[in-house]
Amino acid sequence: MPYRSVNPATGEVMKTFDNFTDKQIESALAGAFALYQSDWSRGPMVRRLQVLSRLADRIDDRAEELARTITLEMGKRIGEARREVAIIAAIARFYTENSQSFLAPEPVKTALGDAWVEHHPIGVVVAVEPWNFPLYQLMRVCAPNMVVGNPVLAKHASIVPQCAAVFEELVLAAGAPKGVWTNIFASGEQVAALIADDRVQGVALTGSEGAGSVVASQAAKYLKKSVMELGGADVFVVLEDADIDKAVEMGIEARLRGAGQVCNGAKRFLLQERIAKAFLEKFTDRVASIKIGDPMDESVGLGPLCSVPTRDDIAKQVERAVEAGATLHYGGKVVEGPGAFFEPTILTGITRENPAYFEEFFGPVAQVYVVKDDDEIVRLANDSHYGLSGAIITKDVPRAKALASRIETGSVWINTSSFTAPELPFGGVKRSGYGRELSEYGLKELVNQKLVLVANG
Ligand code: NAP
Repeated sequence: MPYRSVNPATGEVMKTFDNFTDKQIESALAGAFALYQSDWSRGPMVRRLQVLSRLADRIDDRAEELARTITLEMGKRIGEARREVAIIAAIARFYTENSQSFLAPEPVKTALGDAWVEHHPIGVVVAVEPWNFPLYQLMRVCAPNMVVGNPVLAKHASIVPQCAAVFEELVLAAGAPKGVWTNIFASGEQVAALIADDRVQGVALTGSEGAGSVVASQAAKYLKKSVMELGGADVFVVLEDADIDKAVEMGIEARLRGAGQVCNGAKRFLLQERIAKAFLEKFTDRVASIKIGDPMDESVGLGPLCSVPTRDDIAKQVERAVEAGATLHYGGKVVEGPGAFFEPTILTGITRENPAYFEEFFGPVAQVYVVKDDDEIVRLANDSHYGLSGAIITKDVPRAKALASRIETGSVWINTSSFTAPELPFGGVKRSGYGRELSEYGLKELVNQKLVLVANG
């Protein structure tokens, strides 16, 4: 794919970038591998932590400019873009402050002697990242790998090259030696060749099930450890005792954040019978009241999708769902005029035979189901190819906890929509992928957990 920065609110082509040649890719890999063999990766962590700490400061210094770059390049509302920038600085600070203790040697009880596990870098990591959180996704990989000492070659999505370039610039401005984080404007073939190379030892991909399947199989072929953060069809469960007004507000945020292009956004609304009608009425009224428009305008509730082709794909997906028997309860149309705008949409009456039942709608489209009881909630929630996260809204927290433990996902959030924080592990099961990012769990994914044992005298 060509690397092109197009403003999705206007269609204006802002900047284009040349793909890297094979020679440039080889030079990036050679640099990263040399760094891995140097004192930067093998020496004390403190130097790497200092750079990470400065990275957080550089992000703060340029926060507004970074937020505007996100909004201009992929259409996220400016307030959301500012929050994304704040989170990436927080991730850098979280790992700066906690990595010494997370990565300290861990004693292992054994009758054979004195034993412990140390944490060492594994080598160069190839990261493939999506456009929907164009800086956050990079930091999720950058911070832990910097701390551990794994140099990263990062292939960002082709529609956010300015975010890709500015992130590399920030890492270098923080004082990182060349090779710590190298942006590569690479093709799929070049990524495959990198994964096959012996100098690469880890692969991290966030993206769709399709890309995950291709890249994970390349990693598997060459026995490289991989972490896959893929799609989701998360449930947003509203139980009969929930405060409907609060649940509606949370549901709006959970479905329309990022114009619906959030992996752990609420995609399937499971409403318990008694409150289903009331919830749907209020939810529909709120959806209808949302101002669609320029994501730089703070009064706007829904900005554009990330590109016109993406918007057209969503429009076709909604059309197919309706052809297969779903009811178009609200919206469903492309907003005419420049930009990649699509109406917020509500689908009801989706049966298991409808292909939409198993699909991820990566846009502002809510699927609504009415459910009787907890068993039906669990059955429907788990009847999905995905298993990323989910939310349960209720006053009955013990009931929600019992439900949470029965739902097959990487996380369940009670009385809030699912989101993210540096200290919380992020990841899924089933076709949502494997492995975790963020938190102590994420830090330990791409490390050599090396056992050392001193035998009993
Ligand atoms: P995508 O099409 O899979 O693209 C993601 C990245 O993979 C891009 O950099 C893309 O490059 C690259 N890519 C695609 N095919 C590839 C191949 N064969 N070899 C190497 N790289 C390849 O996904 P998207 O549409 O950008 O993102 C949306 C998806 O990501 C959704 O399914 C969403 O749920 C998921 N997501 C998951 C998480 C999570 O943490 N679980 C977070 C965010 C998003 P190009 O841009 O050049 O095609």
